[in-house]
Amino acid sequence: MTIAYLDDSATTRVSEKAALKAAEMMTKNFGNPSSVYSLGLDAEMEVKKARGSIAERLGCGEKEIFFTSCGTEANNLAIFGAADALKKTGKKIITTAIEHPSVLNAAKELEKRDFEVVYLPVYGDGKIRLRDLEGELDESVILVSIMLVNNETGAVQPVKEATGLTKRLCKNALFHCDMVQGFGKTGDTVGELGVDLLSVSGHKIHAPKGVGALYVRNGIKINSILFGGGQEKGLRSGTENVPSIAAFGVAAEEIPDEKEALERAAKLNETVRSLLLSIDGVKINSPEDALPYIINLSLPGVPSEVMIHFLEGEGMFVSGGSACSKGRRSHVLTAQGLPPEIIDSAIRVSFSPDTPEQHVKMFAENVKNAARLLRRKK
Ligand code: PLP
Repeated sequence: MTIAYLDDSATTRVSEKAALKAAEMMTKNFGNPSSVYSLGLDAEMEVKKARGSIAERLGCGEKEIFFTSCGTEANNLAIFGAADALKKTGKKIITTAIEHPSVLNAAKELEKRDFEVVYLPVYGDGKIRLRDLEGELDESVILVSIMLVNNETGAVQPVKEATGLTKRLCKNALFHCDMVQGFGKTGDTVGELGVDLLSVSGHKIHAPKGVGALYVRNGIKINSILFGGGQEKGLRSGTENVPSIAAFGVAAEEIPDEKEALERAAKLNETVRSLLLSIDGVKINSPEDALPYIINLSLPGVPSEVMIHFLEGEGMFVSGGSACSKGRRSHVLTAQGLPPEIIDSAIRVSFSPDTPEQHVKMFAENVKNAARLLRRKK
């Protein structure tokens, strides 16, 4: 049976080169980058190289990249670090209702610590409106955190316009963007987006799990949330995860030309969408202009879990909503105003630049079979 992994937004297969690099750093070049002898210096050089590769992809200086243990930690560091550094200036934070839990739950924790948090709504197209952001921007705002690509629907938020507005109306506020799902796909640079802080994660781009990075714009000061040996210029203490960091660098170098890959993904997306929409009852929950690598769809009457296991039986791996929301009703689709029968039958299919067209077509074919077989059994 052909196995089609169509859950790249949950995690990706580690590339051969990245895996070999990680193995090399574990078994041969295994020094502690803080050690002063050559084995340590060699490891430090690899960390520096990886920092440079990620910086190049993001269009920033390597000194602006700080390694973390994952995207979740990068988001937490940005949010708690900024809130702590700016708490004397103001206590208002703006984010959206559809952020990843690593932003939403950090924001909820800040509410417990007496910060005021505003969660911008999204509309039927899964996107915020700039007028809502504008209405909340006042001199007490210290941080705005808006994701670039939503992990459940692929909806792309107007980050560039939002940073422009924020900078114009709130001189003191920092702007953070969770770019975990957009990195290596949209081709945006930190300069184009106009952000101060931006999070990325290794395992979404064919690097191992357990490594991420936070971009901190030169001159911006945020406080650390871990206290220890002062690694990463004191912002993120803890011995660096050199194997994963080096592999992250390799995976970043392997990212194909994003614009070309995006064009191919858009064609694939169009093909699958039209195949899916020809199936009686199928609803597509992703907006038409979503990142083409992600499609969220529902077949009302067939619960997400039933569909996932049916597809698994056919050799296809997809998610229900996001990989992190097992068993819970999606906060993203709820915020988008979708009815329960759509939310409870939602699945997410996501792919990478190298996903074979045949796999994506096979998916549409199997949804068609599911519509025939599973709905008839009701
Ligand atoms: N932000 C978004 C949008 C994500 O999709 C994810 C992971 O799914 C994360 C943050 C968290 O990244 P990590 O799994 O590296 O902690």
